[in-house]
Amino acid sequence: MNQQTVLTGLFGFPVGQSMSPDMHNAAFRQLGLNFAYLAFAVEPSRLRSAVEAIRALSMRGVNVTIPHKVAVMDYLDDIDGEALDIGAVNTIVNEDGKLIGYNTDGPGYVRSLLEETGVTLAEQRVLLLGAGGAARAVGVSLARKGAKNMKVANRSLDKAENLAQVLGKHVPADVVEWSDESLARAVGEADLIINTTSVGMVPNVDESPIRKEWLRPDALVSDLIYNPRYTKLLKDAEQIGANVHPGLGMFIHQGALAFELWTGQKAPASLMREIVEQKLNQS
Ligand code: NAP
Repeated sequence: MNQQTVLTGLFGFPVGQSMSPDMHNAAFRQLGLNFAYLAFAVEPSRLRSAVEAIRALSMRGVNVTIPHKVAVMDYLDDIDGEALDIGAVNTIVNEDGKLIGYNTDGPGYVRSLLEETGVTLAEQRVLLLGAGGAARAVGVSLARKGAKNMKVANRSLDKAENLAQVLGKHVPADVVEWSDESLARAVGEADLIINTTSVGMVPNVDESPIRKEWLRPDALVSDLIYNPRYTKLLKDAEQIGANVHPGLGMFIHQGALAFELWTGQKAPASLMREIVEQKLNQS
């Protein structure tokens, strides 16, 4: 680092476990860019000052993570249409003092899905399990890119209804009740089943949001969870012969898209994946 180093980083609370600094700094080094990425633990009451510091310190931009993705929108000069639709920002770009908010979570998921599975979105009847922040990002991006139709199942019905309404602006969208009977039917009818709930995440690795016997071998089963790399849901799906799409690709590509917004250069996604896999193997 020197006086010319361009600063980027992460605002979250806490940020101790984040793999983003290693992933981005390795990518900057690989491309010979004089950029650095640091993680900042920003208390919610200090978010406004932290955003102001992006301008004051001439930072190129930051990623924003839990719990700031929604609150940060109040402090920006402009927000990209997809991020507005999602209702959350995970990447800020500083264009000569003007702070613009983007969401790369949803587009990162779609890029990973298309690259890793080769599916045609227009043919996919999608079932989203969950209706939290990640479901909103993934759901909106899939809907904007034109999935055939979408269903949302969530333990709390009101959140599923709210998300289905947003998705319905782009594609036919419906709600599924979180009961065995309704879930079994919806799983049986879907081409692409996406777990966006936290069910199955470490330490609860023996849990799955749905039963193995509901799955069809010709379905594609996707899980946003990347720790563990292969959740019980994905293992169940593989056992019955279905194709699977693990969550790590979404994490890599949300980072790759942020990298591209800041640097204007294609991100070295394979290197970024290698770094993150190494970190996960150490944990
Ligand atoms: P969130 O906003 O807190 O949403 C959590 C979701 O999980 C809600 O729909 C919640 O349902 C549901 N849920 C939690 N416990 C449940 C249970 N026991 N049974 C049924 N449903 C349950 O969290 P988020 O930010 O969306 O994250 C969700 C998951 O996505 C996490 O595992 C996270 O690691 C993963 N994720 C991955 C990436 C990536 O880059 N791969 C990025 C973001 C998130 P209720 O609404 O009923 O509470």
